[in-house]
Amino acid sequence: MKTIKILHMYSDLLDLYGDSGNMEILKYRCKMRGIECTVDKYSIDDETPDFSAYDCIYIGGGADLEQQHISADLLKCCGGIEKAYRSGTFLFLICGGYQLMGKYYRDADGNEIKGLGLFDYYTIAPESRKMRCIGNIAVRTNITGKPVDVVGFENHGGQTHGVKTPFGEVLCGNGNCSKSSHEGYCEKNVIATYFHGPMLSKNPEISDYIISYCLGREEGTAATLAPLDDTLERKCRQVMLDRLLKK
Ligand code: GLN
Repeated sequence: MKTIKILHMYSDLLDLYGDSGNMEILKYRCKMRGIECTVDKYSIDDETPDFSAYDCIYIGGGADLEQQHISADLLKCCGGIEKAYRSGTFLFLICGGYQLMGKYYRDADGNEIKGLGLFDYYTIAPESRKMRCIGNIAVRTNITGKPVDVVGFENHGGQTHGVKTPFGEVLCGNGNCSKSSHEGYCEKNVIATYFHGPMLSKNPEISDYIISYCLGREEGTAATLAPLDDTLERKCRQVMLDRLLKK
């Protein structure tokens, strides 16, 4: 069977709230099904990888300072990442990583970090550092083909504008901007979101969407996965949904 190959970029700098845990979840859910999954790491000044050789590229979140640190190196990788994305590599991007795939991120002092410009959106932080979107969040996404209510935690100053295809509709929390109706960005082979958490531990359908996409990407059809017992995960999520939506 095919091995799923993941490239985890800047895990030493962009790992806010344990975003690296998403890699553990993908490996675990693959292992439970007998699917081999490898995660390579790339960080500043490492030898340039063949990005297109990967089924998935993952970038976590980080504060403005870490985003500035990685910016020049990330721009060097632009051509390789873009080629991979266009040839079907899955991009999974959290918060700071999400912002830097757009046109730019402008921080509270007006400093601009250039993004890779793969997508049309752009992000601007308000001048007041106190105005942040912080807290639990729930959104309804249709990325898997049927509605899934996803829970997580957001903490960002940046307000992301110009998103045409959001990841989900906000049920509770802020989303792309303060009190906005939508959260994140998605395409068939992209999930970009403000959800930290790590979000995959709480939302098994999203993990499996990524795994089945990666397994089937060379054939152009998502692979069918053996079901796992997600009773506990679903119960935990329901507790949060009930609390957040006050049912
Ligand atoms: N620095 C960015 C912001 O505050 C991203 C933060 C994050 O990754 N949580 O908007």
